[in-house]
Amino acid sequence: MLKFPFFALCFFLFNLNFSPTDYYHYSNDDTTAVKTKPKKKHPKLDVIVLDAGHGGKDPGAIGTKGYQEKKVTLAIVLKLGELLKTEFPETEVVYTRKSDKFIELYRRGEIANESKGKLFISIHCNSTPEKPTKAGGMATYILRPGKTDAAIKVAARENAVIEYEKNKKRYDALSDIDFILTSMSRSQDVKFSEKFASFVQKELKKSVGLKSNGVEQAGFFVLVGASMPNVLIETAYISNLKEESLLKSSAGQLKYAKGILEAIKKYKEVYEGS
Ligand SMILES: [Zn+2]
Repeated sequence: MLKFPFFALCFFLFNLNFSPTDYYHYSNDDTTAVKTKPKKKHPKLDVIVLDAGHGGKDPGAIGTKGYQEKKVTLAIVLKLGELLKTEFPETEVVYTRKSDKFIELYRRGEIANESKGKLFISIHCNSTPEKPTKAGGMATYILRPGKTDAAIKVAARENAVIEYEKNKKRYDALSDIDFILTSMSRSQDVKFSEKFASFVQKELKKSVGLKSNGVEQAGFFVLVGASMPNVLIETAYISNLKEESLLKSSAGQLKYAKGILEAIKKYKEVYEGS
């Protein structure tokens, strides 16, 4: 249960983070102290980090017919990377993995930060314990404490891959409080993450045509580490027979890549124009 002092701390940090000096600057003549809006230019969307979920010894979720999540995520990411190269040749595309390789969750964030990424996109597939399932559709997640049981379960399943990592302890301290503090200290990033997530849902609906389960929020470890606007896309349910076939097909994977590309185009305008 969250107690008052915690909220007091949040309030303090919130105000610390949104110090008026972030928004205003003062004239040199401090007798007038005229407030003016800064003319900060938002950076260009010059580096996009594509994160193919799972890989190597971690297959991710496995479909009813045995298709592995790690293959879907890599195929979509590589297709999207190619489309980005053609559409935005001046944009650097960074991959957390380009082959069937195991990469720890914390390392994915580090790669994004080291390359000065401006947008981090993590691709995954949803799944259910029962196979096949009637559950279906697409959802895009941003980092915040989970609001619904379903969202919390999705994050728990994705976070469980740390079982494959040598030093699981590094994630021990991560709790809802960290997700609150992280999202508060990066409130601008969260705003842009939300914007991008809604573009992704809209464009995937047009391009792929599956049911949209909307923009959700939950505490994904992989998103905590990436200090930039970031989202995690659950492309479809690999445990749903129809959706597994779609995820497995090259044509289906291309539909996802095209949809996400369209979302990036829309987002780029908003981000750079802000
Ligand atoms: Zn996954």
